[in-house]
Amino acid sequence: MPVFDWLRRRREQRVLQQRPIPDALWELVMLRHPFLQRRSAEDLGELRRLATLFLDAQRFQTLGPLTLTDEMAVTIAAQACLPVLRLGLHWYDRLTGIVVRPHELAVAGEVMDEDGVVHQHDDVLAGEVNYAGRVLLSWNDVQQASELATMEPDAPVYNVVIHEFVHLMDMRTGWATGLPPIEDRDLRRRFAQVLEASFEAFCDRVDAGEEDVMDEYGTEGLDEFFPIASEAFFVRPHALREVDAGLYQVLAEFYRQDPAANRE
Ligand SMILES: [Zn+2]
Repeated sequence: MPVFDWLRRRREQRVLQQRPIPDALWELVMLRHPFLQRRSAEDLGELRRLATLFLDAQRFQTLGPLTLTDEMAVTIAAQACLPVLRLGLHWYDRLTGIVVRPHELAVAGEVMDEDGVVHQHDDVLAGEVNYAGRVLLSWNDVQQASELATMEPDAPVYNVVIHEFVHLMDMRTGWATGLPPIEDRDLRRRFAQVLEASFEAFCDRVDAGEEDVMDEYGTEGLDEFFPIASEAFFVRPHALREVDAGLYQVLAEFYRQDPAANRE
């Protein structure tokens, strides 16, 4: 084992022993996120380990009248670590901090359409990853995700934490394109093919007015479809597999997870 590996492992052991997430707090966060609670004991053990290391390494900051509690930090960490459960925290090497604000951020701006016409728009941002590697989250939206998953398990999935951290994975080696850096060439090729075909099919379903497990925002482009599909993959895996088995399969290969293997 190279010496740096050994040092890193020793440091990790120390963090896990000295700064564990208290049982009651972990149980509470699991209770509020049924899609986490359903995972196998092995997955949850690894998730808790990664979340502990994540909390030790990351700086949290709040904006506005909001005080960060342990519960908030664990809620964010547990969901942020889910996409990298089998890939490792190094996928978040570019992360420089997490900023939590009480509500969505209203942004006004202009966009030019395909015909060169400029439109004004008023948008609300529930979350954002900026190119300095900082993730911004609206706490109101983080809570909504938990309420939706618990109270309305059949609604289209909305999960701002998973969404923004999947953007961060996508941006690991540059711009967000919807195609994260995948080393395996065969998987990379199939991932791109399937994602594009699934994106087209999803846009058609939305145009036809069909209700879907994925949020309509996924029609914005491939770079948004990837995080939106990933939200559905982690929160309502059985429903995603039913609506698009090919998409489920390629996401399962990329994330090295099979969340639909657990009971619904
Ligand atoms: Zn997005």
